[in-house]
Amino acid sequence: MIIKGLQKTTLIDFPEKVACTVFTEGCNFRCGFCQNPALVSVSDAPELPEKDFFYFLDSKKKWLEGVCITGGEPTLHKDLPEFCKKIKEKGFLVKLDSNGTNPEMLKELIEKKLVDFIAMDIKTSLEKYSEICEVKVDLNKIKESIELIKNSGLNYEFRTTIIPEFFSGEDAKKIGEWLKGSKAFFLQQFRNEVPLLDPEFKNKEPYAKEKLMELKKILEPFFDEVGIRNL
Ligand code: SF4
Repeated sequence: MIIKGLQKTTLIDFPEKVACTVFTEGCNFRCGFCQNPALVSVSDAPELPEKDFFYFLDSKKKWLEGVCITGGEPTLHKDLPEFCKKIKEKGFLVKLDSNGTNPEMLKELIEKKLVDFIAMDIKTSLEKYSEICEVKVDLNKIKESIELIKNSGLNYEFRTTIIPEFFSGEDAKKIGEWLKGSKAFFLQQFRNEVPLLDPEFKNKEPYAKEKLMELKKILEPFFDEVGIRNL
C-alpha cells in the first residue's frame, strides 16, 4: 500500500468513531474540485512505510476505534484487501472512501468482511458524470458498486460535493430516483478557499445555505437520512 499521508486522529471521518485517516496515492478521476490534489497523481512526495503505520496503530490501541482509508482512490491498490485484513486483525474497524470505479474489489472487501463502513462519492447525475470527473467514466461500474454497497448489510453512505453547475434541483431529483431506498445521502458544501486540483474551480461560487436546504428537501423522500456537511 502506498500511503502518502496520515491524520492521526479524526472525530469526523468515521461516523461515531474515534479514528485515524490514511491517505493513499493515485486516483483515476480528475475532479476539478478535488481537495487532495497532491494525492491524485503519482509523485515523489515522501511515503509513509506500511510498517511505520502499523507501529503507530499498535501504539494507539487504547484510543482509536477505527481506520479510514481514503485517497486518491484506495481501490487502485491491489493490496488494499490485505491492508484492510491486517488492520482488522489488530482489532480496528475499517472505513473505506471510494469513487465506486472498482466494484470487483468492493465485492471482495464486502464478502471477506474486510470493511465495516463504505462511503461512496456520487459525483453528479449520470448524464454529467464523465464531465465532472474529467475522464470517461464506465457508468456500469458505478451502478454496480452502488448496488453492492446497498445490499452489503454494512453501514454506508453516498455523498456529493455540491458544485452548482453539476447539481441543480433536476440533478438532485435524478440522483434521488437513481439511489432510491438507500440509507444515507450527504450533500457536502463546496469550498473554494482551499487548494483544488483545477485552479479554475476557485472562481466557482458555492451555493448559499438556503439552496442546499432546498436540495436536501428534494432528496429526502428517497433516503432514510439526508444531511448537509461543511456548512
Ligand atoms: S475528488 Fe476523489 S475521485 Fe475526484 S480526483 Fe479527488 S480523490 Fe479522485
